[in-house]
Amino acid sequence: MEIGVLAIQGSVTEHVEALKRAAKNLKENQFPSLDVEVVEVRRPEDLINEKQELLIQGIILPGGESTAQAKLLKRYGLFELLKDAIQGNLQNQKTLLSVWGTCAGAILLSKKTSNSFESKHNKPDILAVMDIESDRNAYGTQIDSFIKKIECDFDDGNDDAKCEMEAVFIRAPKLQPFNVKDPDDIKGSDAEVKILAKDGENSVALLQKNMLVTSFHPELTDDTMFHEFFLKMCRT
Ligand code: GLN
Repeated sequence: MEIGVLAIQGSVTEHVEALKRAAKNLKENQFPSLDVEVVEVRRPEDLINEKQELLIQGIILPGGESTAQAKLLKRYGLFELLKDAIQGNLQNQKTLLSVWGTCAGAILLSKKTSNSFESKHNKPDILAVMDIESDRNAYGTQIDSFIKKIECDFDDGNDDAKCEMEAVFIRAPKLQPFNVKDPDDIKGSDAEVKILAKDGENSVALLQKNMLVTSFHPELTDDTMFHEFFLKMCRT
């Protein structure tokens, strides 16, 4: 399977390397026939062919600067295309594109954003596909960046699926799910937002259908747990 990393700004190389390590782990320990190719996505041709068929099964939107990323997505003709691919609105699309937004990428996926650090300006033009609100820079500025142990639960309270990991927060947003189930949503029954990881009271990893967000940076630690989880999402 082909997995993309949006390569217009931010921590691209780190995600590419982490995906390769995660794919190797999964192949050795769980799925011997797994074959993952990681591609850097910069142009519409990296995402779809001329028949509007998807060329990749999943894409990571890396951390960086969401305002700059939103502008560049528009400039390179990827903004609407990505939104359509995530929502299943391309002409010849058979499956939804799985997407994982880390930090700035999570902000781009949110349906709403606010900014507790700077008030009005710098509001990115977001993709607005996931039922979460992100409060940008809510933990403070660059100098307030921190590393902290967080609790993860990948499988609704199943004790075997619970674990702890170190998480790197860099000008991270606080993420708030709306948890609204849309009765008109016919594309999946699993429409509500699930909390996968918390830092105290704050949700730091959330899942809704084909969309995963983390407010922290799993690509900056050795643990490939989230990259493995995302690859498994892309297989289904
Ligand atoms: N604060 C950045 C933004 O609002 C995100 C920071 C990050 O991705 N590490 O876009």
